[in-house]
Amino acid sequence: MSCMKDKFNREITYLRISVTERCNLCCRYCMPEDGICKKKHEEMLTEEELLTAVRIAASYGVTKVRLTGGEPLIKRNILSIARGIAQTPGIEEVCLTTNAILLPEFAEDLREAGVNRVNISLDTLDPQKYEWITRGGSLDEAMRGIEAALGAGFDKVKLNAVLVGGWNEDEIPALADLTRKWPVDFRFIEMMPMLGNTVFGGEAYIPYTKVLEALPELMPVEGKETENRTMSLSGVAKLYRLPGASGYVGLISPVTAHFCRNCNRLRLTADGKLKPCLHSAAEFPIKGMDEESIRKQFEAAVAAKPEWHGNLSVTERSHALRLMNQIGG
Ligand code: SAM
Ligand code: SF4
Repeated sequence: MSCMKDKFNREITYLRISVTERCNLCCRYCMPEDGICKKKHEEMLTEEELLTAVRIAASYGVTKVRLTGGEPLIKRNILSIARGIAQTPGIEEVCLTTNAILLPEFAEDLREAGVNRVNISLDTLDPQKYEWITRGGSLDEAMRGIEAALGAGFDKVKLNAVLVGGWNEDEIPALADLTRKWPVDFRFIEMMPMLGNTVFGGEAYIPYTKVLEALPELMPVEGKETENRTMSLSGVAKLYRLPGASGYVGLISPVTAHFCRNCNRLRLTADGKLKPCLHSAAEFPIKGMDEESIRKQFEAAVAAKPEWHGNLSVTERSHALRLMNQIGG
C-alpha cells in the first residue's frame, strides 16, 4: 500500500463521498428553493464504479470513508454501498452524515452493514423553525431518527448545527445541553458562503466565538486528548465540554479560523468528480474510466490540493462550482 501526500506534506486518509445530489429536505443554507436540476441516471457513478474508487483510495492509504449527499438515505442501494465499503480491505471506518428523517427505517441495517459513526444535522429544537430552515421538514421525524440512531449501537453519534446569526444563536445553550442529556457530541459549524446560498445577509455569518460567549462554562478539552481528538477523531473541531456532560461540544470554523493545515480529505461527487478541496473549482472526473486512469486522477487530485481555501465571507464566496448538496459538506 502506498500513501498519498500532497505538496504541503499532508497525508490523505479520508474520502468523503456524496452518493446523491437529491434530498428529502431543502435547507435554506444548502439548496435553492427550486431544488436542483436532476442529472440523468447515466451521468452518476454506479455502485460498481463507486466501490472501485474506494478500493483504489484504500490502496493509496485512505482508511476512513464518509457517505453524504444530498441525503444519502434516499439512495436506493445505500445499504449495499455501505456494506461494500466496510468490506474493502484497508477501510477502517465508515461514517454517514444524514438529516435523520429516514433513520427509523435504516439505523439498524446501517449498523449491521458496517457503518461505525453517524452525524446528524439538527439546527434548532423549535418545530416551526425546523420547518422554516428545511423548507417543510418535521422536527418530530428528525427526533425519531436521532432516537433510532442512539438505539442502534453506533460507535458515535454526533449532532451538527449550522450557526445562523439572528436565527438560532439564541438556541446555542439548549442545543449544547443535549451533550448532557444524550451520549452525543454536539458541533456548531460556521455557515459557509457557497454558490447559490445567497439568501442570507452578512449578519447571518456569525463566528464560532459566539458559542464561547453564549456558554462561558464550556471547558476546553486540554492536552493530549485534545491533540488526538483534533487530529484523528474530530478532525476539524475545537473541542470543549460542558460540566457534567458526557459528550464534547465541537466548534468548526471554516470561515473565521480555517483548519486547512490538518486537511486529510478528498471528496468524490455523485457524478464522479474528485474534488481536491471543498472550496476550489478544480474537479477530476473518474466516471467511465479504466482503473489505471482513475489512479492517475487520484494522484492529480491530491497534487492539486491548495494550501488553504482562501478567504470566505459574505462577499468572498466559495470558488466551488457546485451547491453544498452537490458536494456533501
Ligand atoms: N443531508 C445530510 C445532512 O444534512 O446532514 C448530508 C448532506 S449535508 C450537505 C452535509 C452537511 O453540510 C450538513 O451538516 C449541513 O448542515 C452542512 N451544510 C450545508 N450547507 C452548509 C453551509 N452553507 N455552510 C455550512 N454547512 C453547511
Ligand atoms: Fe438536504 Fe442536508 Fe442539504 Fe439539508 S443540508 S438540504 S438535509 S443535503
